[in-house]
Amino acid sequence: MAHERSKEEIKEGILGKLKRHFGKTLEEATKDQIYKSCALSIRDVIVEQWTDANKQVLNQGLKRLYYLSAEFLMGRALVNNMVNLHLLKEYNDVLCDMGLKPDEIEEQERDAGLGNGGLGRLAACFLDSLSTLDLPVTGCSIRYEYGLFKQRILDGEQVEVNDNWLEAGNVWEIPRPEEQVEVRFGGEIEEIWTETGLKIRYKNSYSVLAIPYDYPVIGYMSKMPATLRLWSAKAKTGLDMNYFNRGDYAQAMQERELAEVISKVLYPEDNHEQGRQLRLKQFYFFTSATMQHIVRKHKQNYGDLHTLPNYFTVQINDTHPTLAIPELLRILMDEEGMGWDEAMDIVGRMFNYTNHTVLVEGLECWNEELFQSLLPRICQIIQVLNEKFCDRLWQAYPGQWDKIGSMAIVAYGEIRMANLCIAVCGKVNGVSRLHGEILKTRTFRDFYTVFPDKFLGITNGVTHRRWLAKANQPLTELIADHIGDGFLKDYREMDRIGDLLLKESFLDDFMCVKRKNKERLAAHLKKTQGIEIDPGTVFDVHAKRLHEYKRQLLKALHILHLYHLRKTNPQVQIEPATFLFAAKASPGYARAKNIIRLILAVAKLVNNDPDTKDILRVVFIENYSVSEAEVLIPAADISEQISTAGFEASGTGNMKFMMNGAVTIGTMDGANVEISEEVGLDNIFIFGASEQDIEKMERYGTYKPGEYYEQNTDLRYALNAMIDGTLPVASDRQFSDLYHSLLFGDMDRADRYYLLYDFAPYAQVYETMMSVYRNKDEWKRMAAMNTAKSGHFAADRTIHEYNDKIWHLKEM
Ligand SMILES: *Cc1c(COP(=O)(O)O)cnc(C)c1O
Repeated sequence: MAHERSKEEIKEGILGKLKRHFGKTLEEATKDQIYKSCALSIRDVIVEQWTDANKQVLNQGLKRLYYLSAEFLMGRALVNNMVNLHLLKEYNDVLCDMGLKPDEIEEQERDAGLGNGGLGRLAACFLDSLSTLDLPVTGCSIRYEYGLFKQRILDGEQVEVNDNWLEAGNVWEIPRPEEQVEVRFGGEIEEIWTETGLKIRYKNSYSVLAIPYDYPVIGYMSKMPATLRLWSAKAKTGLDMNYFNRGDYAQAMQERELAEVISKVLYPEDNHEQGRQLRLKQFYFFTSATMQHIVRKHKQNYGDLHTLPNYFTVQINDTHPTLAIPELLRILMDEEGMGWDEAMDIVGRMFNYTNHTVLVEGLECWNEELFQSLLPRICQIIQVLNEKFCDRLWQAYPGQWDKIGSMAIVAYGEIRMANLCIAVCGKVNGVSRLHGEILKTRTFRDFYTVFPDKFLGITNGVTHRRWLAKANQPLTELIADHIGDGFLKDYREMDRIGDLLLKESFLDDFMCVKRKNKERLAAHLKKTQGIEIDPGTVFDVHAKRLHEYKRQLLKALHILHLYHLRKTNPQVQIEPATFLFAAKASPGYARAKNIIRLILAVAKLVNNDPDTKDILRVVFIENYSVSEAEVLIPAADISEQISTAGFEASGTGNMKFMMNGAVTIGTMDGANVEISEEVGLDNIFIFGASEQDIEKMERYGTYKPGEYYEQNTDLRYALNAMIDGTLPVASDRQFSDLYHSLLFGDMDRADRYYLLYDFAPYAQVYETMMSVYRNKDEWKRMAAMNTAKSGHFAADRTIHEYNDKIWHLKEM
């Protein structure tokens, strides 16, 4: 829906909020107050629509999706909401007329950094698309008081700073204390037979209050704003007055703090699960609260719980929210008096599961004893689920105890969340075509044999409202000048950009926009980090979480190789390049943090050497986050997507870069495979081992990294440079851990991620790519082709697929 509002109305709206909310005139107000007044005036428009739409969903009896995710990496909301309400230009004009700088107002807002990386950002993109398509959805998660840490670079390494994002208040959230629920932990259970059947009693358990905070999230020209519901933990009792009156303030406070620590902080681990008690509490906390809320709401509106699956469908984003399944069983049996089969019939029709990782260290498992002591009743229910599931498996695999043991939900003292999801959920999906296939043929092969219809792959997407219209306004305007702005609502219209590739003037304008975005990034880096970069050089960007499988280290070795090339042969032609890295490492992931140190040491080396400083520049961008990505991605010429084949489930960064006209250099991994099909192999630079190659080497143990070291002098130089004093670091031993992990392996196998295997092919393809880059006519066509073919990676396409194959929601 368009929101026609005159500039006068907008101005009155902002000034009115300043006056009534803050008691300030424009002259007296701080930038923060002006930001909040803008946000509140925008919020009014959204909330009105939200209230009406939610009422209509009820009146029409429409099914609603509950998207459960431990992470929603939302970023900032203000400008994105202006884009989606089609009010951006009007607001910018008004702010300028008032003598304000729109950018400065935008920067007052703190990123909602409630996620680690791709998984959390996917959930955020999905809310935008679901709303744009007018499909009713509530996203549910935790209102972490501290989001993902902020990263600073100090003395050549990462330093973590906590992210107290709610400090200055949050204008978007609406607390709903009237909808609070209680979540119970610990204690022992007693089963008591009464006249009305089995009753469960708890002894010595304790409860925590879950208070919901709702955020309206509006898509592009939408009638149906989404809801993001974040649960916050609160102690049930106030201060314990017994302690308080005796003057023992510390003891009185302790109980409160123990309860409220549950929603205190987001765990900073990406693609890695550790069985920590507090994390288990977090997962149960938000899933229990959500299931209680759904049941309560359904009873209020419809009465009969047997119709629950007609009105609600639940998507489980990775295994973190799995406990929603046994929790709903518990509510239906223990609180609503249903029998097992009756409850199971309902639950079995409500849940679906998205898998996000093929890494073994990414799969979530819980120690049965820990689980038992924290969630005794849920543990019991899972054990029953397990028994019934193993009976079912016995029919498929009679006598094959090893196989059944590996597929069981509970075995060897561990509870395996992925197995629970597969046992109960209607559909299990991977997040790209390749990943979907790997789930069937490798990760969950035995399950696939028994349940062939459960498994599918649905390729991820990104919202082109945030990643194009918000992040790259000049490119959006250029496209709209030629094909109109209908593509923002209907992603299929993006295909029409293809027709423009024949127009030289369009291609030239396209490159002008790229140059502008490179200048914007240069100015941003100067301002935020005091770093100067040259927009006249090629911008080669590797931006994503730091993980060994994503192979930032391969790129660092390649830069050492280029450095060596130039040092040994000053005549060699090297395209002047700026290598931009952006990556947070989990604070407990020592090797990842050391890779950051290495990148910073390589930067120090090449940026200060008179022989290389004019042609090679290495920059580490601090604090990779949604807001940093919005400035960085539109400025990229080259998108580095160089994960070990078979390890990146999909990637979504690859799609954002492509959409913004960066050319990919990458492996045949995750969604890169489909990107290469969309743009064609002439418009992407693919290198290295395929997933099958890797799989073979893994199976037969034939990979010998030492042989590559022996045979390739360039590679040998790059590796030795890490430890032979070439790098400007205090200790030569600083990087011996990395060196050893590649050549010999310490705890694990040598070079688990096949860097040495892929080094030569990477260097070669990079050289080819640079020769194409020098041909400006060829390059501009290639860059624009990437934007033109990116429609397939719009999250709207992804949501259509989920809806056709899994959810079957009707639009409002
Ligand atoms: C898109 C995005 C990611 C995911 O990037 P990948 O390259 O797919 O790993 C991570 N962090 C942020 C801030 C993002 O916007």
